[in-house]
Amino acid sequence: MQALLATGNEDKAREFSELLPFVEFLTLKDFPGHSAIIEDGNTFEENALKKARVMCSYAGLVTLADDSGLEVDHLEGAPGIYSARFAGEPGNDDRNNVKLLKLMQGIPKEERSARFVCALAIVMPDGTEQVVRGTCEGYILEELQGNKGFGYDPLFYYPPLDCSFGQLDGATKNRISHRAKAIQEASQILKLAIVGK
Ligand code: IMP
Repeated sequence: MQALLATGNEDKAREFSELLPFVEFLTLKDFPGHSAIIEDGNTFEENALKKARVMCSYAGLVTLADDSGLEVDHLEGAPGIYSARFAGEPGNDDRNNVKLLKLMQGIPKEERSARFVCALAIVMPDGTEQVVRGTCEGYILEELQGNKGFGYDPLFYYPPLDCSFGQLDGATKNRISHRAKAIQEASQILKLAIVGK
């Protein structure tokens, strides 16, 4: 079964392909003629739904779009929907992590709580749509730990496994991540959309 994943982020695309191995995902790279989608929503959900709606009507395929990011409580939820471009355009993971470390310098452990958020929108050509949210709670580390994953993974400490997301292999991250939880939440509509039952 083919579906469109409305992202140009190869790390996200890899995780979705691992999480839903029975789906053949096309991505934005397979539709070079589409115009840029401006992510101007105020929430992860608004942005995810906009991406999925625009690309579903363009491609005529079942379309999934995720808008995700990191919310840091001490920073009143920042970087939030601006996670990809926290340190400015064009988005850069290393510069984002340096900025986050700087802002969190000297902040005690109990005030370093944070969560990864994934809003996942599924839009079908017949107009059926759903948006769900998955979250994963943790803490911001005082230095980078691990070099796996992407984005803020090396700065995100996950207490149940006593390590950072940057130290997790892909299969383990895919069991517990915000994206995995969102896919779990959406399992009914995904089954309908993708398997057709
Ligand atoms: P989006 O493409 O607008 O949804 O931005 C997502 C951004 O949030 C990424 O560029 C990363 O900075 C961050 N992010 C989302 N999910 C993860 C994750 O699983 N690990 C690390 N960073 C993530």
